[in-house]
This record gives sequence, structure tokens and C-alpha cells, in this order.
Amino acid sequence: MSAPSDSQRMEKIVSLCKRRGFIFQSSEIYGGLNGLWDYGPLGVELKRNLKDYWWRVMVHERDDVVGMDGSILMNRAVWKASGHEDTFSDPMVDCRSCKARLRADQVIDKGKGRQCPVCGGKDLTEPRSFNLMFKTYVGATEDESSITYLRPETAQAIFVQFKNILDVSRKKLPFGIAQIGKAFRNEINPRNFTFRSREFEQMELEYFCRAEEGMKLLEYWKEERLKFYENIGIPRSKLHVLTVSDDERAFYSKGTYDIEYDFPFGRQELEGVAYRTDYDLSQHQKASGKSLEYFDEERKQKFIPHVVEPSAGVDRTVLALICEAYSEDQAPDDKGKMETRIVLRFHPRIAPVKCAVFPLLKNKEQLVAKAKEIVDLLRPNLFVFYDESGAIGRRYRRQDEIGTPFGVTVDFETLGEKDSALRDTVTLRERDSMKQERVAIKDLVTLLISRIA
Ligand SMILES: [Zn+2]
Repeated sequence: MSAPSDSQRMEKIVSLCKRRGFIFQSSEIYGGLNGLWDYGPLGVELKRNLKDYWWRVMVHERDDVVGMDGSILMNRAVWKASGHEDTFSDPMVDCRSCKARLRADQVIDKGKGRQCPVCGGKDLTEPRSFNLMFKTYVGATEDESSITYLRPETAQAIFVQFKNILDVSRKKLPFGIAQIGKAFRNEINPRNFTFRSREFEQMELEYFCRAEEGMKLLEYWKEERLKFYENIGIPRSKLHVLTVSDDERAFYSKGTYDIEYDFPFGRQELEGVAYRTDYDLSQHQKASGKSLEYFDEERKQKFIPHVVEPSAGVDRTVLALICEAYSEDQAPDDKGKMETRIVLRFHPRIAPVKCAVFPLLKNKEQLVAKAKEIVDLLRPNLFVFYDESGAIGRRYRRQDEIGTPFGVTVDFETLGEKDSALRDTVTLRERDSMKQERVAIKDLVTLLISRIA
């Protein structure tokens, strides 16, 4: 079941992303390249905040997880052992009339034979498997011996470094290895903005355990991951857990959940949480001839650990965050007339800019100097943006549109001109409620940090 789609809402979001510098089409001045995207000044901040928060929760705040950062190009043998070289493919059909290449499941068959969904033609090839990995050559010679692939997932680097990391970290089961990095898949039909891209980032944890703990840890990680999304501002009511059925699950997996989100274009997967048994390590042990076993000192047992894998897409989550944050409401303009306000209601934790600082007027030297002092005070603690141009209402609106949760305005009261009790206080405005409060400059850092968390 997919939720109702809302194409108009999606159009507005895509347009905002470009207009404000979240996401651009890759190589745009040359007409772009399908399925590839660039993150602009605000997009990169949002993405970093998401990745940093994931790392904090999954690695730094735990005793049982360590991190790693693997290379994108690996020995081809990795992809043979993992099964990607032989089976990481989609069955494809070519339309001989319009040359469209289609996934076999997209070809329509209304009982009158197969038909091309693009041109309606019936001259189609038989399904052929098309590997989704990007092939490349390492070194100067372009022959069979120098072939490898851009990694289609980050997980394999963790599996093949399992022994090294086990030795250096001296962790006992259960423990995990976390990684964030790029992966590449030559998707036939990239679509839904950045949702299905050919180059993307993953945040993956491989959590190693004993066989008997696998099913319980699968449940544990599903719940942990749901909490994570709630903590970045995606409500539980918009998340759905799909239990992947026996026939759709990878043959080695004993249980897989998809965590899905209601995007404007329908319900789609953000993350997979899979109990992969001991398949990956067994494959690599067999293919490499190197032991990837764990020695349990208490029980004096040697065995290949099982693994539970929560694997999240960075770009998909960024898109979900933007879709969830996007809203329109009514707010008064500078003359008190109500107008439509576009506001990104990001959780302060992931908002690209945390606080904007404004002098009420740009031609009053004292106001400007004070505002710049505040920027210097805040800057070591959080990402701030200084803006002095235009009416104050317009400046607030520009920040609302990029989701900045707080705005600080330096006015004449800050200078103590009307009431000396208000000297060195500023107006702190909250984005969603638009409520304003008077705050002492010396309390700003502590207050903002506590609200951003
Ligand atoms: Zn066709």
C-alpha cells in the first residue's frame, strides 16, 4: 500500500531546493547527468548534520561500536565472494522501436502480449540481466585482470576488515562496526528527485553477534532506528515498518524490516534492517582462505559471528527531512498584512543554520558592531548567519525558508537607549511560533545550545 502522492507539493520542494541552494542537478550547465545530484551550501550542512548525528548516536554514545572508513575501489575478489558480480542485477528488456531500456517488471502485459510503457511498441527483447555495478579498470591496462567496480554498498569493506578491527579494538561479541560512505549503482530508471540516485551515501552498521542473539537484535535495532528518525524530526506516525516476506528476502537472511516514510511521491524505504546470519563472513572466509572466526574465551569456542545490519540512505533521509519540514502558513509582513510564509520546520539538531543574527538597521554603526560581536560570540559554538540587508521581516522570512530555528535581533534597546535595564539584551525569535523573547547576550550561547541539543 502506498500513501497518496502529492506531486504539487513535491514540485514546490524541488524548486525550493534549487532556489535556496540545497540540491542542484549535477553538471547542470551541460544539461546534467541523469540520477546524479550536487548538494549546495545549505544541502551540505544538512547532510553533515545528519551524518554527524548518526555517528554520535551509533558510535560515540555506545561502548560496543567502533567506526571505519573503507576505500571505494576494492579487490574484485570481494565482489565475486559477496555475490554482487553474479547476482547484483535487474532483469532488463529493450524496446526495439524507441530504444528505451526497461526493468522487466515495468513492461505492461494486458493479456495481449508485452508492450513498451514509453511508446506502446510490442517489439521487445527477452529479459536480460543487467549488472548494477559501475565497472572500471585499475592501472594502465584495460583488460580482464584490471577490472573492478565502484562499490555498490559500503558493507563489504566492513566484512573484509572484520578480523583486523576485531584484533585492534579487542571488542567482545556483540559489537558493531559503523561506516558512512559513498556507494554507486547504475540504476536504470533514477527517479523521484534524489530518492533513487546512481551515486549516494550510506550509513551502515554491521552488528556482530552469536547466532542465538540474531533475532532478538534484529528487533532491538529496528526499535533503535525508529527512535533515531523521531529524534531528527520524523514522527513515528509517518514511518512504517514493512516486514519483508520470505520470498522477497535475500536467501541468507532470517529476517528483514524496511523502515519506510510517506514521501509526497508515495511510501518508500529509508532504511533496511536485516539479520544476515553468518553469510557474509562465511563467504569471505571461504573465498580468501583466511579465518574470519571469533574465539570466545569463556566458552572456548571458535565460530563465525552472525550479523544484524541497519543500513540507512543518507540522501533519502535528507530528502525525507526536507519533505517533512516543508510547510506553508500565514504570517504578517512588515506592514502587518497576512501573507503566505514558506517555512522548513527542521529539528534544530539538523537545521543547516542554527541562528541568524541581524542588526535592526544596517546604517546604524553601533547596531552593526554589536551584531558582529554576537556573531563572534556564537560562532565557536554553532553555525550562524549574519544578515543586515532588507527589512527585518524579509530577513526573518528568508531564514524561515531555509529552516533556521532561531533569529537574534540587535535593536536600540540592546544599546540601552530607552531603558538601561535592557542594555545588552537582544530579541530572540523562534521560527515555528514566531514568538519573541528578550534574552541577555551573556546567556545566548547556553540557551541556544540547550535548545539545539
Ligand atoms: Zn518503446
